[in-house]
Amino acid sequence: MSEPTVPESALVARPVVAVVGRPNVGKSTLVNRVLGRREAVVQDTPGVTRDRVSYDAEWSGREFVLVDTGGWASDATGMAAQIAEQAEIAIQLADAVIFVVDATVGVTDEDEAVVQVLRRSRKPVLLVANKVDDPRREADAAAMWRLGLGEPYSVSALHGRGSGDMLDALLAKLPEEGSAEADEPGGPRRVAIVGKPNVGKSSLLNKLAGQTRSVVSDVSGTTVDPVDELVEIGGVPYRLIDTAGIRKRVKEASGSEYYAWLRTQAAIERAECCVVVVDASEPVSEQDLKILSGVEEAGKALVIAYNKWDLTDEERRRYLTREIERDLGVWAWAPHVNISALTGRNVDKLAKAIDAALEGWETRVSTGQLNSFLGRVVASHPHPVRGGKQPRILFGTQAHVGPPTFALFTSGQMDAQYVRFIERRLREEFGFIGTPVHIEVRARA
Ligand code: GDP
Ligand code: GDP
Repeated sequence: MSEPTVPESALVARPVVAVVGRPNVGKSTLVNRVLGRREAVVQDTPGVTRDRVSYDAEWSGREFVLVDTGGWASDATGMAAQIAEQAEIAIQLADAVIFVVDATVGVTDEDEAVVQVLRRSRKPVLLVANKVDDPRREADAAAMWRLGLGEPYSVSALHGRGSGDMLDALLAKLPEEGSAEADEPGGPRRVAIVGKPNVGKSSLLNKLAGQTRSVVSDVSGTTVDPVDELVEIGGVPYRLIDTAGIRKRVKEASGSEYYAWLRTQAAIERAECCVVVVDASEPVSEQDLKILSGVEEAGKALVIAYNKWDLTDEERRRYLTREIERDLGVWAWAPHVNISALTGRNVDKLAKAIDAALEGWETRVSTGQLNSFLGRVVASHPHPVRGGKQPRILFGTQAHVGPPTFALFTSGQMDAQYVRFIERRLREEFGFIGTPVHIEVRARA
């Protein structure tokens, strides 16, 4: 019997592409156009409001991550400045930028403000003149040459006109791999410290940076983005992603919550492992859950740091245990550390937790091991009969690491519940501490 073949993808960081521009130029429409229907199926986590901004995209076999900065309601005051700031965040964290203008409106002050930011960054920019719904509008698009950002690609995001050429041009501008991959193999691991405001992220960063002032600007061959920082935790150097965003207090302007979320998502996207900081002295909140979901959906290694432990008493700790069981049970696979960024308690232990999570994230199970495990599981717990047929797992293979992703080839659709059961058994058998586990079912028609 010949085995179905699955491409063995190496662990390659996908480049991140930010879609920027003022409101109403058609950013979200363009993102949807690029994604096609592929994102229609989203897995809902109960009790968690979804407002994703980053999506997996693909064109001509190349994978990249699209960050949609649309869907952002701003007030009218200081618009140009706000849009520029929003663009700045997205641009800093991206490998390439799609800058969208509305060809039917022409260049506005707000567009000019973004152009300034784009010029300062040295990121590759693709200029898209949108809403060119018919050829008579081409002249409006050509007028965008004057922005000095190279050839304007005329597109109708709504109808799809020109989007193929635009994507070809984007691929030509994309770096081979995400900036993430500029790392030396064996160089510092990329870690993002994320969490809602006031949980102690910058205190933690200062503690880590303070302990290791002398470190590492000369760790061999490592180029560090201006927004990142190298620090040592427990003697091991890590690259902390977007520390600029942690150090710079986000302005209390309108939309600042949105900036914070955008920044968080982009940092998660660039990291290998995320340390989600939760305030142990206060009830777990929806925002905490949203960030944890974000890490899981992005498929990154996860460590939970319960901070401000110095503020907790017996009673609070009892409550916290209950809250964790009730609300954070779905992330029970993530290692956690109880820390105090103030006193430094247990901060060193983060290193061990991060390393454990990264090890789980990169675990590779051989095809032989996997299929002998699947054989045993299926024999003792076959899939329930559906419509007189019994779907069977014919063969499985691990298609990716980082996070572990398994392809199961089956004779018929599997119940979601059964797939979750397989995931649980996989975890019992192989560990996968600190990592999401993805299972893709490929049913033979
Ligand atoms: P965003 O704020 O930049 O994300 O803009 P949206 O994607 O929400 O689009 C704003 C409005 O422009 C919506 O009413 C869209 O239907 C419309 N729009 C977007 N792309 C096109 C296009 O290519 N042609 C036309 N005629 N309308 C478009
Ligand atoms: P960020 O918004 O997540 O960066 O949070 P900050 O680091 O600015 O911390 C918010 C507040 O919590 C500040 O007043 C900190 O001094 C305080 N804080 C942070 N970590 C701890 C901790 O471990 N214990 C105590 N007692 N306070 C803390």
